Amino acid sequence: MIKTDILIIGAGPTGLFTVFEAGLLRLKCHLIDALPQPGGQCSEIYPKKPIYDIPAYPEILAGDLTDKLLEQCKQFEPGFTLGERADTIEKQEDASFIVTTNKGTKHQAPVVAIAGGLGSFEPRKPLIHNIANFEDKGVEYIIKDPELYRNKRVVIAGGGDSALDWSIFLSDVSSEVTLIHRRNEFRGHLDSVEKVQELKNAGKINLVTPAEVIGILGDEKVAGVVVKQAEHIEKEFEIECDHFIPLFGLSPKLGPIANWGLEIEKNAIKVDNSLDYQTNIPGIFAIGDVNTYPGKLKLILCGFHEATLMCQSAYKIINPGKRYVMKYTTVAGVDGFDGTRKEAPKAVVKKIE
Ligand SMILES: Cc1cc2nc3c(=O)[nH]c(=O)nc-3n(C[C@H](O)[C@H](O)[C@H](O)COP(=O)(O)OP(=O)(O)OC[C@H]3O[C@@H](n4cnc5c(N)ncnc54)[C@H](O)[C@@H]3O)c2cc1C
Repeated sequence: MIKTDILIIGAGPTGLFTVFEAGLLRLKCHLIDALPQPGGQCSEIYPKKPIYDIPAYPEILAGDLTDKLLEQCKQFEPGFTLGERADTIEKQEDASFIVTTNKGTKHQAPVVAIAGGLGSFEPRKPLIHNIANFEDKGVEYIIKDPELYRNKRVVIAGGGDSALDWSIFLSDVSSEVTLIHRRNEFRGHLDSVEKVQELKNAGKINLVTPAEVIGILGDEKVAGVVVKQAEHIEKEFEIECDHFIPLFGLSPKLGPIANWGLEIEKNAIKVDNSLDYQTNIPGIFAIGDVNTYPGKLKLILCGFHEATLMCQSAYKIINPGKRYVMKYTTVAGVDGFDGTRKEAPKAVVKKIE
């Protein structure tokens, strides 16, 4: 049995920042994530994309943000159960919870923070009869490392931001980029659509619209795709390629958490946003993309804020009757559980008499 103060389900940016905020309150955290690595959507879906709305970072790659969050929380020595999905929760007589994963690992804590984001997310796959045979053999639904596509011939399918952005990015990396979309209009940012148009005119992206990939060619791995083009007459043709990347978005599923007796609205967990993002079950909080309340925005910085407030209530549950006086880190410093101490040089903290 793994025991901790706050059991965090989901090691995305919200879960990782919770470790830091809890650490300031001397609370220990353990994180469970179904993915094999921390970082949530940032690591799994768009590690190489720059984010522009993280306070104080004019621009930071999503993968680098994950690294920074890990560096920031390291001093509070979080535990990790990675590659396992939190499946069941049982309330104990002492009001603590036991959470068991699909692999049978048990965790016990007085407070559970669900930071499960979109839940166990699955990419939307095109209906191509033989696509499953080529998964990870040239068919990828998520681009994790663009280097995989260096000097390779790539076919991307999709009409949203991901398809546009990756076509633009890979036009500098791959030997050939073909973007296929079933309509002539794209749903992405205007800038990206214009950029793709420019790259098409410069011969750096082949654009095939309105068209659909209807088959994959190859034996052991992808050798090409069969495309059906719908113009005046429907015609089929083949494109030779090394990779086929359908980017049709993700279909979010809350997964097993949906059966935990929590109030759910539109695939998200309802919380009390006037106080601390607690769910209808006392002791269970939901923070980050996974929750919903009036005015909710699914943004990383909102998850950080929610994590900070939630930790204050977790402190009160874990230390009943004890008063906590919030102090700035610049004043109190930061005492890591690993014995490290960070503090501002005294000269920069002046007392006002
Ligand atoms: C392409 C793209 C671009 C984006 N750009 C921006 C941007 O510019 N700025 C911005 O603020 N936001 C952006 N976002 C949104 C941002 O990524 C999310 O708001 C953020 O990741 C939410 O963090 P989170 O920790 O709440 O959830 P997530 O990052 O989704 O992490 C949740 C984790 O929980 C795990 N999990 C779920 N259920 C279980 C379970 N039962 N057991 C174990 N683990 C579980 C999942 O595996 C996942 O790792 C973007 C999103 C995408 C897809």
